[in-house]
Amino acid sequence: AVEVRGVHKSFGSLDVLRGVDLLVRKGEVTAILGPSGSGKSTLLRTLNHLEKVDKGTIRIDGELIGYRRRGNKLHELRERDILKQRSRIGFVFQNFNLFPHLTVLENVVEAPVSAQGRDRAEVIAEAHALLERVGVGDKARDYPRQLSGGQQQRVAIARALALRPAVILFDEPTSALDPELVGEVLAVIKQLARDGATLVIVTHEVGFAREVADNAVFMDAGVVVEQGPPAQVIDNPRHERTRAFLSRVL
Ligand code: ATP
Ligand code: MG
Repeated sequence: AVEVRGVHKSFGSLDVLRGVDLLVRKGEVTAILGPSGSGKSTLLRTLNHLEKVDKGTIRIDGELIGYRRRGNKLHELRERDILKQRSRIGFVFQNFNLFPHLTVLENVVEAPVSAQGRDRAEVIAEAHALLERVGVGDKARDYPRQLSGGQQQRVAIARALALRPAVILFDEPTSALDPELVGEVLAVIKQLARDGATLVIVTHEVGFAREVADNAVFMDAGVVVEQGPPAQVIDNPRHERTRAFLSRVL
């Protein structure tokens, strides 16, 4: 589970997160919707301590992220421990972010070996299976630039899975894709959801969110305005701000 409690984050005088509470249960899919600038990406980045919170706590499977408690004070973890925590959290970005100088297979194998110290031969075998699973098993020796955007994003998903993550975070995973490639990436994410993965997905694909999410979260101006089953939040929103947003995007 991912537990976010009272998280605040500012950049200078700009209060981007203003007290966010969120609970993501194990095996559930959470879709985060909201207007541009509402703090969705910033929230995702705080979950693996890519952004430090100013206030509040984040726990993943009970473990405090980025800090350890001593008495009633929180001390930031050492870089090494932060990287170790981060290696159990998958992150799939809008622009794929594959390593351009590594082959598809090497992209998937890199982090489990270097950050988790796992056996290379074992990771390679698992990487081939993961590439099969996302439908790019025949691309293992290619370089990212030789792949379509949809194929690159599916490699990025395989790379996240190779970490055996407690949760996978997706930040608008299809918004950089040509329309005809969106479906193949959404299909892979749907399959992960059916397989019981814990997923947090920032998306503008409201129809997709309605279909796969267990919990839909609407954010605006740095707070969670409402959350609940998609049938409630998307089809029957209680708050005027949610209605106004949905009427613009649907
Ligand atoms: P979008 O839908 O456009 O991706 P978002 O909901 O993901 O928007 P964020 O990227 O979280 O929004 O940004 C929220 C606000 O914080 C924006 O006003 C943005 O300019 C600002 N912001 C984000 N990161 C930084 C940073 N590193 N330094 C300063 N301001 C930042
Ligand atoms: Mg964003």
